[in-house]
Amino acid sequence: MNQQLPLVEQLKKLEQLQELDLKIDHIKKNQKVLPATLKAAEDALKKGKASFDAKNHQLTEFEKLSRQTQAALELNQDRLSRAIAKLESVQNTQEFQAASKEMEQLKKLSLSLDEQKKKSSADIELCQKDLAQLQAELEKLESEHGRQAQAVLGQDQALGADLDQLLSERGHYVPGVEPRILAQYDRIRHARGGIGLVPAVGGRCRGCNMMVPPQVYIELQRGNILHQCPSCNRILFVPAVPQGALQQSDVVR
Ligand SMILES: [Zn+2]
Repeated sequence: MNQQLPLVEQLKKLEQLQELDLKIDHIKKNQKVLPATLKAAEDALKKGKASFDAKNHQLTEFEKLSRQTQAALELNQDRLSRAIAKLESVQNTQEFQAASKEMEQLKKLSLSLDEQKKKSSADIELCQKDLAQLQAELEKLESEHGRQAQAVLGQDQALGADLDQLLSERGHYVPGVEPRILAQYDRIRHARGGIGLVPAVGGRCRGCNMMVPPQVYIELQRGNILHQCPSCNRILFVPAVPQGALQQSDVVR
């Protein structure tokens, strides 16, 4: 910029900046809440994964028990074979009774282990069925999450493009305003809900709706002194055509 613009012109640029900054703030706010819109899908996915993992763990336990039972069964079969052999070589009634008793016990144990084995097989089968169902549900949740994440990414990119556009537009106005005034505007904006510059209409600040002192209002209309609202501190300007008057004339015609 070659030379400093009159204050009135600077305020006009600041007015544009304020308008753009509100849009920029709005986009940034929308971008910030975007990840939260994925939360429900993320939670559902997490829950689905936990259910699948728990069932998978249960299956592993059942399979382990089944292997242990199988090993016990085989061991018992060996002992039973030896007991049968022993029975064939008994010397007296006492030995016969002892060997018979042992054989009976081993047979009973075999039956019980067989039962256990059958139960394990049934448990495993049921578990595998549940696991297949959980896997299908998990895949569905994963695809839904992926779909939503993709949509969120698309929205984020669209917002990002809008933001870039607004920031570049903003760049056109910034050089027209003195850095001192810009800094003041930014400071007030951050302290005052994103609004650093407001119109004064009919002697009233449109930011906080308080009357500004008459002398200040007169100077504002002349537009050559920078004033802040005494109540809300925002930079004031008088619009070229007072908004109230414009509306009234619209109604008359
Ligand atoms: Zn005010």
